[in-house]
Amino acid sequence: MKLKPPINLAWIRFTSCSGCQLMLLNCEPSLAELARIVAIRDFPLASSTLGKNTEIDIGLVEGSITTPSELERLLAFRRKVHLLVAVGACALTAGVNSLVRGERRQAMTKVYAEQGDDWNTFPPQPVAHFVKVDGQIPGCPPEPGELLNSIGTLLNGGWAGHQVMPVCMECRINENPCLLERDRAPCLGPITLAGCNARCPNLGVPCEGCRGVVAEANRDELCRLFKTAGLTDQDISHRLERFGETT
Ligand code: SF4
Ligand code: SF4
Repeated sequence: MKLKPPINLAWIRFTSCSGCQLMLLNCEPSLAELARIVAIRDFPLASSTLGKNTEIDIGLVEGSITTPSELERLLAFRRKVHLLVAVGACALTAGVNSLVRGERRQAMTKVYAEQGDDWNTFPPQPVAHFVKVDGQIPGCPPEPGELLNSIGTLLNGGWAGHQVMPVCMECRINENPCLLERDRAPCLGPITLAGCNARCPNLGVPCEGCRGVVAEANRDELCRLFKTAGLTDQDISHRLERFGETT
C-alpha cells in the first residue's frame, strides 16, 4: 500500500560506525526531494532531536545488538514501527563487530581497562535474531543508489528487489581480470551477493563479502580454491566469518 505523505521515517543506531547513515547523508542531490515526502523523526547523525513517542511508518535500523539496553531499545522501536528495515552488514549479520567473539571480555578490558570488566555486553547479534525484519539493505556500507531505491520503493508501497547473483557476475561483466585466478587472492566474490557492481574487484581488491552470502553459495568449492592458493583452514574460517553470519 502506498504511504501518504508526510511519511514518518526514523533511523535508529545500535553498535555500528554510523557509516550507513553517512552513506544516506552523502546522497545530497536527493535529500531535498526525500525531505519533501518524509518527515524525519530520528536520525542520530543528522539531528539530536528525537521523536520518541511518534508512530513510525518506516524505521531503518543500523548496527548489531550487543547489550541488554540495546535490545530493550530495539524492542521498543519495533513496537512503534510499521515497516522495519535492517540496513548494513552490522544489522544484517552482526558485521565486523563479530570479529571479536570468544576473546570478547579480553578485548573489552584491553580497550576500556578495568571498566571493561563491568560492561554488560554479549556477542554481537543481527537484528533479526530479536525482531521481525520487513526489509534488508545489505553492504558495509550499502550502495547509495540501493539505499535510495529501497527507500523510494517502500514509500510507494513496494519493496526493491535485490540481485540474486554473486559478485563474480558483475566482475565478469566489467571485464576485470579474476584476482582469485590470476593472483590466488582470497576473493569472496563467488559466494557474495552482487549489487555493488563489484566495487572492490574493480579496484583490484578482493571482495570481502560485506553484502552477505548468495543463495546456493558453493562454499566447499571456494574453500578448496583457497586451500590451493595456500590459505590454512584458520585463514579461511577468519575470512568467511569477517562479516558475521555466513548462512
Ligand atoms: S555496516 Fe559497515 S558502514 Fe554500516 S555501520 Fe556497520 S561497519 Fe559501519
Ligand atoms: S576477482 Fe573475485 S569477484 Fe572477480 S571474478 Fe574473480 S573471484 Fe569473482
